[in-house]
Order: sequence, then structure tokens, then C-alpha cells
Amino acid sequence: MISILDIVHDTMVDGPGFRTSVYCAGCPNACPGCHNPQSWDIGAGHRMSTDDIMREILSDPFANVTFTGGDPMFQAKGFLELARAIRRETEKNIWCFTGYRFEQLVQNADMRALLEYIDVLIDGPFVMALRDPDLLFRGSSNQRAILVGESLRQGSVVELDDEDILSM
Ligand code: SF4
Repeated sequence: MISILDIVHDTMVDGPGFRTSVYCAGCPNACPGCHNPQSWDIGAGHRMSTDDIMREILSDPFANVTFTGGDPMFQAKGFLELARAIRRETEKNIWCFTGYRFEQLVQNADMRALLEYIDVLIDGPFVMALRDPDLLFRGSSNQRAILVGESLRQGSVVELDDEDILSM
């Protein structure tokens, strides 16, 4: 089960191409200047099962998937179950937005397990002083677009630049 705020179909703002974005409730990061403070309270969402979320995802066969919020890593166990179902039943790629840094996520067993299923991670808190509206799919310049599988294999962060992202 995941506490969900909304599931948005065919969005183009949460990663390259058309995507189904799963917006969860619950975020502990409290970044000053957060664009979505109403998402912080996990009680603001409605609980959905993996099967119900999968029905939404499968209703759009051509869209890839983004986990966002809120912070999906705050509900890592629920998103892990969902990510496993996406891998099992589709060939969709998965992007994930989180306020945690990659180096923190790999220290936590549930978050590390979820990372195994993520193709690209946008990591780090939003920092108002580093805000840059020209960045692709990031709000501030401290946030990184990380190629997760390669980073886990190498044991260090492998970043994508805007050109890499646009060619995906
Ligand atoms: S991680 Fe994202 S949702 Fe959470 S407080 Fe920061 S900007 Fe807002």
C-alpha cells in the first residue's frame, strides 16, 4: 500500500517523453521554498494497493513511469513492491525524485532495494539559493540526475547531463 496524492497520465514535466507520474504523500525533508508543501503530510493522501496503481499504469501502454511526491523514498517498501510489479509486467523505465542524496539511500536497506529498480534518480533537497529554472527536470543545481544501475555497479555516482537526458 502507498499513500497517494494523485496519478497523472501523459505528463512531460517529470522526465523525458510521456510519463505516468505517481505522486505520493509524505515527505520529511521540509525544504524551504518547496513547490508542494501540501504533500508533506502522509495523511494527506489516500492509500492505494499495488494492484490498483498498476491498473492505472497499465492503462497507458506507451508512457514510462515516474515516482514523485512528496518523497517516494519515505515509503520505500510500498514503492519497492510497485517497482517490482512494473519490472515484472512491463518494459517501462522508472524515474524517481527524492529529497535524499544517493549516498544516504544506499545506507538504508529498503531504500537501497528500491534503487535497484530505478533507472534515473533525481536526488537531493531543493535549495532555494541554488534555484535554476533552466535546469532540466531539477529545481536547484545541487540536485543530480543519476544513472542508478551504473552508479550501484561502480560504487560511485554516475551523473547524466542534459544532453544525455534528452537522448533517452
Ligand atoms: S524533497 Fe521535494 S517534496 Fe520534499 S520538501 Fe523538498 S522539495 Fe518539497
